[in-house]
Amino acid sequence: MMPYGTAAEAEAALGRSMTWAEALWFRYSAGMPDLWLTWHVSLVYLVLYALVPLPVMVIQKLAPGYALRHKLQPGVPEPSPVSTYVEYIRDSRGVTLAALGPFPLIYSIAFKLFGVRTGLPLPSVWETATHLVVYSLVEDYTSYWLHRFLHTRWGYEKIHRVHHEKTAPSGFAAAYATGTELSLYLTTLFLGPAIVPSHVTTHWLLFSIRIMEAFDTHSGYHFPFSLARFIPFYGGAEFHDYHHYAGEKTRSNFSSVFTYCDYIYGTNKGYMYHKRSLAELKTKEAEHSGKED
Ligand SMILES: [Zn+2]
Ligand SMILES: [Zn+2]
Repeated sequence: MMPYGTAAEAEAALGRSMTWAEALWFRYSAGMPDLWLTWHVSLVYLVLYALVPLPVMVIQKLAPGYALRHKLQPGVPEPSPVSTYVEYIRDSRGVTLAALGPFPLIYSIAFKLFGVRTGLPLPSVWETATHLVVYSLVEDYTSYWLHRFLHTRWGYEKIHRVHHEKTAPSGFAAAYATGTELSLYLTTLFLGPAIVPSHVTTHWLLFSIRIMEAFDTHSGYHFPFSLARFIPFYGGAEFHDYHHYAGEKTRSNFSSVFTYCDYIYGTNKGYMYHKRSLAELKTKEAEHSGKED
């Protein structure tokens, strides 16, 4: 809760006028206990998990031919988007209960330990971007090694096998994992904020981006507008789909968001070979059909 009763007191403490965003934040959160602000992370989760699948569902429903052309594993039949969505909500019950109960409780304790800011001033765009880059680097590195551990015999059998049941993932597979696996990945997500404290709004942004990214990575589609085509080193769906396609024994594509760890540690070789083979096959098919013409 902010230590100011009025906007004038807040501006006096800041020594300047509030920006429009700060005025909005003041009106929204000035009288709100910090505990309630920590529970917003559950709201972010629930809203995004319900909404993020919708754009791909709309494309599947309205333009199935277009969707099929950009499907990464076109030979695998796609169930109707509506039934998949219902199944997704059903499969997400465990995660949803965790998001409403244990997770915000643990987060509220971590919130105090991290020294998360909730008041004014709000972080600048530059500060927020810097924090997000640092958090992303920390998470990428730790989640890469976590994922490699999950592909040891013990880690796979006890924790990771469930997630790999989806050999041709759709976005809904992002949350299809054991509670232990999801908790471990959450730990890597909050490692950055624990090391470099920031404002609670940066946490919400971080969490939102990560949910959208997880869905994109598991979407099973590589559209012309997919972010992976525009952001260097962002793996996206094509990169992670290969990991699911190759399955348990794969030694390739362990990165969650950016792929630099796979390049550094040489765990992208199977994927690169697979891509080269596909490209050669396409060239041969094009030459063959050219001769027949
Ligand atoms: Zn895996
Ligand atoms: Zn996956």
